[in-house]
Amino acid sequence: QVEGLNHYFGEGSLRKQILFDINLTLHSGEIVLMTGPSGSGKSTLLTLVGALRSVQEGSLRVMGQELRGAKQATLVQVRKQIGYIFQAHNLLKCLTAVQNVQMSLELHNGLSPQQIRQRAEEMLAAVGLADRTHYYPEKLSGGQKQRVAIARALVSHPKLVLADEPTAALDSKSGREVVTLMERLAREQGCAILMVTHDNRILDIADRVLHLEDGRLESHSIP
Ligand code: ATP
Ligand code: MG
Repeated sequence: QVEGLNHYFGEGSLRKQILFDINLTLHSGEIVLMTGPSGSGKSTLLTLVGALRSVQEGSLRVMGQELRGAKQATLVQVRKQIGYIFQAHNLLKCLTAVQNVQMSLELHNGLSPQQIRQRAEEMLAAVGLADRTHYYPEKLSGGQKQRVAIARALVSHPKLVLADEPTAALDSKSGREVVTLMERLAREQGCAILMVTHDNRILDIADRVLHLEDGRLESHSIP
């Protein structure tokens, strides 16, 4: 729940407002896409919602927690409940596909190494990579790497998934596959997705499409 959010970069005379009075409510189970020109502030807004950047002005609540002025421990707790997928999948090169997915569960307490292993393998199977479990990222295609990133983001059953142009590095066919997969898993798990995209071909998966223009949000529903 975002209310009256403003954001600025720079100091003194170089201080520049990037986001203007953003108001936004994301409901559980909802898939919301965000479009807008380069530099309009989409990634900035996504990192604010993801508790990866301090809230300067306004209110931002994630799962009931106010992030403005929140303690580090609160931010860490909130981040654990969010799945992040970025444009460049950010897999660790020195870990295999399944180890990359396991990593996300190792942050969570209470699971044995066997359970972690099993859930990571099941998640890789769910994204169609059961036969690539032990491959290192360099041996995977762009679409396969992005599917590992999706498995990693969703394996801990986050309530909120934030994705910044997850299909940007993919051709249109694998882009479509990756997004359809995210949609299916999100619907199954009932998590909310907020996804930045430049890709007009995937807008139909959304419940709502938001448009950011020069730091101002204009929303419209898709027909
Ligand atoms: P793109 O579609 O190209 O990814 P975007 O909508 O995600 O663009 P942002 O990355 O949010 O845009 O950037 C919004 C504005 O904030 C840009 O003018 C950018 O130059 C500026 N900006 C982003 N990060 C910083 C920073 N760390 N310090 C100063 N200015 C920044
Ligand atoms: Mg961006």
